[in-house]
Amino acid sequence: MTVQLHHIIDGESVDSIDGQRFESVNPATQEVWATAPRGSMADADLAVQAARRAFDEGPWPTMTPDERAAKLHRLADLIIANGSELAGLDTTDMGKPITQAVSKDIPRSALNFRFFADYAKTVEDESFPVSSPHHMYAQYEPVGVAAAISPWNFPLMLATWKVAPALAYGNTVVLKPAEQTPASCTRLAELALEAGIPKGVLNVVHGFGPGEAGEGLTTHPGVDLVTFTGESNTGRAIMKAVSPTLKRVSFEMGGKGANVVFADADIDKAVDWSIQAIFTNAGQVCLAGSRLYVERPIFDEFLARFVDRAESMKLGLPTDPTTEIGPLASEEHWRKVTSYLDIAEQEGAKLITGGQADGWWVRPTVLVDVDQDMRVCREEIFGPVVVVVPFDGEDEGVRLANDTPYGLNAMVFTENVRRAHRVAKKLKAGTVWVNCFFIRDLRAPFGGYKASGIGREGGKYSREFFTEAKAVVIDIS
Ligand code: NAD
Repeated sequence: MTVQLHHIIDGESVDSIDGQRFESVNPATQEVWATAPRGSMADADLAVQAARRAFDEGPWPTMTPDERAAKLHRLADLIIANGSELAGLDTTDMGKPITQAVSKDIPRSALNFRFFADYAKTVEDESFPVSSPHHMYAQYEPVGVAAAISPWNFPLMLATWKVAPALAYGNTVVLKPAEQTPASCTRLAELALEAGIPKGVLNVVHGFGPGEAGEGLTTHPGVDLVTFTGESNTGRAIMKAVSPTLKRVSFEMGGKGANVVFADADIDKAVDWSIQAIFTNAGQVCLAGSRLYVERPIFDEFLARFVDRAESMKLGLPTDPTTEIGPLASEEHWRKVTSYLDIAEQEGAKLITGGQADGWWVRPTVLVDVDQDMRVCREEIFGPVVVVVPFDGEDEGVRLANDTPYGLNAMVFTENVRRAHRVAKKLKAGTVWVNCFFIRDLRAPFGGYKASGIGREGGKYSREFFTEAKAVVIDIS
């Protein structure tokens, strides 16, 4: 039976005003498994009004950080307690292997709440000694209503990465999950109510972007800030949409991560991390290491070992705990990724392993004979497709890595510590991992250079975004 999802507005499960619905398809079976209300601008307006009331009339923004933290920890507990269900929803909605959802997405979603609940308690207001009889200090206050617009590749985890700091700092939220993956965010809002978070503080409105629920949020005068994760082109559209109402924005967008492997690297480690960097979540990761530059002396050996490992990865049903590569998230996305296999051929690149499999699966795919100008090297494919290119010397490695419109992340493999620091400094990317990948700490800045982002989130960077800093000056003469 098809599951019927709802918006969560002002603590109630509701349908769209005009009764419209859209379908969510399980990419493993290609069957409709759920429908969700297709939110219009009018539905977005209702959700914003609820969030506005919850902010303006409280009690959420005026609670102490301790009081908010207790509820956010309770929500984290509920995420863990309902982890199998939540993981199953993401697996059904977008084909993510269940093992990855259970072992990574669920604990990290809970951690997002725990971390920001505690971090928001540590804010120390600054004071500024002045040369007159005045006491001057800064304090940080919630901004207001945050619109959180999230993508489908880590449906619950990336939504919580936005919702957790927004709530921890006392804002109220309207979350619009990606239309491909409406289920886990709906459940999140229900769990938030169960955790004692007041109604209207976290609202979820479903639907599409342009002209519908998404744009309803970005153009709404009652929304104060927009935190968005998604494609760079969507970021461009949102930037335009928010300008008449001058909203604060934080954008986490696309990537084309460079992975630079020097001849002095520990090859075992480099192969291991490079495989994970591109094939985790079937390459549907903004941080994917989709451009792999290997220094010429080890190119052949590295490539042979990399291809060997790629070919040994297990494709399968996402519900099978041994599956490493599930289907791509939707038919539209599968068409996009496979179109790049045709583009690669037209451009003269050589596919040495991989390609289409049955259903919406794509095998781990390796392209060589790739030039820097080819579309497969410049555009975000967002699938299990990597270009492997040789380079000669450090300068060329850095130049090729930086020759991209994106700048979310880069990786460097070298056993030379001086080179590690030198190259990390030269790479134009928001995160550089040396001899590793995806090691995160939620205090660290996260975001991108160039078309990969605007602003940073994480720790004090999230505080900057989700609070207003106010200077208070008192005459003490
Ligand atoms: P997308 O841009 O198509 O959609 C993201 C969200 O924006 C969805 O909720 C969508 O409905 C909404 N949206 C679309 N048009 C809109 C509009 N005009 N106004 C308001 N909302 C609108 O992205 P996607 O396909 O869901 O996700 C994949 C993309 O996200 C990739 O480019 C990936 O690199 C990027 N991403 C970036 C990060 C990061 O941290 N930098 C993390 C994950 C994904």
